[in-house]
Amino acid sequence: MKNVAILGSTGSIGRQALDVVQAHPDRFRLYGVSAHSSEDAFLALLRAAQPRRAVFSRPLLEPVPGVELSFGVRALCDLAADPQVDVVVLAISGIAALTPLLSALKAGKRVAIANKESLVCGGDLVQEALRQGGGELLPVDSEQSAIFQCLQNGRRDEVEKLILTASGGPFFRRPREALKDITPAEAVKHPTWSMGRKISLDSATLMNKGLEVIEAARLFDFPGERIEVLIHPQSVVHSMVAYRDGTVMANLSAADMRLPIQYAMTWPDRIPSPTRPLNLWEQPDLAFYQPDMDRFPALRMAYDCLKAGGGCPVVYNGANERAAELFFDGRLGFLEIEESVSYALDRFQNRPMGDLEDILLADGEARRLVVEFQNTRSKA
Ligand code: NAD
Ligand code: MG
Repeated sequence: MKNVAILGSTGSIGRQALDVVQAHPDRFRLYGVSAHSSEDAFLALLRAAQPRRAVFSRPLLEPVPGVELSFGVRALCDLAADPQVDVVVLAISGIAALTPLLSALKAGKRVAIANKESLVCGGDLVQEALRQGGGELLPVDSEQSAIFQCLQNGRRDEVEKLILTASGGPFFRRPREALKDITPAEAVKHPTWSMGRKISLDSATLMNKGLEVIEAARLFDFPGERIEVLIHPQSVVHSMVAYRDGTVMANLSAADMRLPIQYAMTWPDRIPSPTRPLNLWEQPDLAFYQPDMDRFPALRMAYDCLKAGGGCPVVYNGANERAAELFFDGRLGFLEIEESVSYALDRFQNRPMGDLEDILLADGEARRLVVEFQNTRSKA
């Protein structure tokens, strides 16, 4: 029996992770949960799921019988490293996941990681924490889970390239001029997946795929030049690995995040899952296209940041996080998201990221630069 802590339990991934835990009471016990906002939803979850421990961002007004409650970032890291916990599902969104990730890995946990921002920003620190604690990092992001599975079919020196598929988001066929007036409601309508609003927006700008290129480089220790992106609007092929003899291994399934969440929790075992089987004859024709980096420059910027190294990936992510907030507040236009990220990258003096403080400083700088960009735009 494994004790599970779900960090970010009220979100899209967090709730699906809870489904996985509850579908396998013989294997998993819900030990701890955390959340940042929506107090009512969190209280309802605590009453229904009865974890042993719960962490919220601020004091909860109501106690819940049988649940030990604590608050704030320190408590979150403490839960991630709790000696009773075997598996941490990291379903927090944004760079806020980085500190609990480091705590969990240093404590030797298996981390089923959905959050990509922490990997993009954490770089070497994550590898160091893995070495130090002897923990395990198992990908949940569907593309990375697919690659992880395809890599099990050969040796590392036999791999030619990693091929990340991308749905292309809701605007994949629109000309660039038509993207200017996209509203938040249009931007979060993802064609194939139902997800939190920030990652849905990132899928529309292709920032999500840019973050995933960097995430794959980090997870699999692979150079950016040999990581490709392929647009595949049906989201049936979740990603592929090309081997040097010309063989391409692909991972296919119904688009259901419970599957990669469960695999990250049970690996190396495969057990039955609630995901409906994939009937390929029911699928519309599967199509693949090369991405247009002129229409979606966010992707090209990710490759450039990966190559530049240092704080550039941190700025790419931090600027995008801040720009997304401003877009949802109606203070930035859709195309201004990537423009503000580019503005921040142009002004950032790149330097090595030695420790967590360096990373958090670069992140803060990126966010300030985006606000500066927004101020110049609103004055113009
Ligand atoms: P979401 O917005 O639905 O949920 C986020 C969760 O994190 C919530 O429980 C929220 O309370 C918590 N949270 C937010 N800010 C926090 C903070 N500052 N400190 C602590 N907790 C905080 O997000 P999501 O769609 O579930 O995505 C979570 C992560 O998984 C993201 O990094 C995303 O890129 C990644 N991911 C999501 C999907 C998906 O299908 N939703 C797929 C692949 C990867
Ligand atoms: Mg993904």
